[in-house]
Amino acid sequence: PTEFDPSRVRREFPILSSRVNGQPLVYLDNAATTQKPRVVIEAISQYYKRYNANVHRAAHALSAQATTAFEQVRRNLAEWIGATSTDELIWTRGTTEAINLVAQSYLRPRLKAGDRILLMECSHHANIVPWQMVAEICGAEIDVLPCADGEIDLELFKRLLSRQPQLAALTHTSNALGSVFPIEQMCALARAAGVPTLVDGAQALPHFDIDLARLNCDFYAFSGHKLFGPTGIGALWARRALLESMPPWQGGGEMIEHVSFAGTRFAGLPFRFEAGTPDISGVIGLGAAIDYLRIQDRESFERHEQQLLQHALACCATLPGFRPLNAGHDRVSLISFLIDGLHPQDIALWLDQQGIAVRAGHHCAMPLMSALGIPGSVRASFAFYNTLDEVEKLAQALDQLIRSQHSQISLPQAITADQ
Ligand code: PMP
Repeated sequence: PTEFDPSRVRREFPILSSRVNGQPLVYLDNAATTQKPRVVIEAISQYYKRYNANVHRAAHALSAQATTAFEQVRRNLAEWIGATSTDELIWTRGTTEAINLVAQSYLRPRLKAGDRILLMECSHHANIVPWQMVAEICGAEIDVLPCADGEIDLELFKRLLSRQPQLAALTHTSNALGSVFPIEQMCALARAAGVPTLVDGAQALPHFDIDLARLNCDFYAFSGHKLFGPTGIGALWARRALLESMPPWQGGGEMIEHVSFAGTRFAGLPFRFEAGTPDISGVIGLGAAIDYLRIQDRESFERHEQQLLQHALACCATLPGFRPLNAGHDRVSLISFLIDGLHPQDIALWLDQQGIAVRAGHHCAMPLMSALGIPGSVRASFAFYNTLDEVEKLAQALDQLIRSQHSQISLPQAITADQ
């Protein structure tokens, strides 16, 4: 029994009552993207219906209204995550663009041949490739902190920090394993060693609140679409002193104060890093998602999600050949697994036929998969709106698939085992 009743919140997410492949949708691909509550869908629709205009050019009423709504979201976000100033919040397309901004504007000008960058083994490609790109240009070296079992060795981390990397790019929560890393401790160690830190929070904020004052990192990146908001919008938080030391990344309108052919004077923070018309409806939709989350009891969400996780692990533990990947001690509600004799893709296909959405593959974490010696896994990732009943449907569908393999009974649609 759970103290939290997901049926109340489920009513607020229109898509959750739909059917897929003739079955009620069981959406367990929340780590890829989350579903949107009605308030988010409505906020975007209201913006386009009632006050669509470009922002920061307030020569008319609609523009003023759009600008006010747009900038209010920045204030709400700052307050929510414990940023001291809205100047430190830059709108980006998502985590990927936020990390690329830091790689190109912060790190690249500082990086010299032979310098080091410290990465984590389980990071998403978004927190690997941008660093590799600047490392290659500048002739820098990359060090990797092992974490394929969902744990890190803080002593080893300290040793890697003592090599004085120009930046440690950390992952708060792994999208492939669900592991939550001790970011507060890691940032404190990095600070003591004089190493700046970037934290990829794409999979953290959807599960728990953060407080930047306590985390004490230098950069924090996240995506709106994983946070029950729209796609195409995310944010970078960065310390003001660092932002002030960084040249603009992209040039264009919105980011200037004065332009002539003799030269350009750039706008102040945060606009200096927001070239071009921003994703106004995206910001407004994200604002509605943040407002939604802020009035919820997120601790009860978290407890419910942990129940989903424990229930999933318990229900699946008895399945023949079920092999969950290790995610360490501290983890969010996500299970990544293999089933002996079945290909992850075939498992996902079978689940899809039952209306159950999961992801199969490398989850944009190929270095992690190769450290584990596997090509990929099946990932079922839960959100607060999932139910214990849905977890049981997942386990039952897996059980049916495994039994059919063992007894050679053919399933309604042919599933081939090739592992
Ligand atoms: N980092 C992590 C941990 C992620 O899970 C993701 C999305 N799967 C990203 C970065 C990239 O986010 P986006 O595609 O929204 O930029």
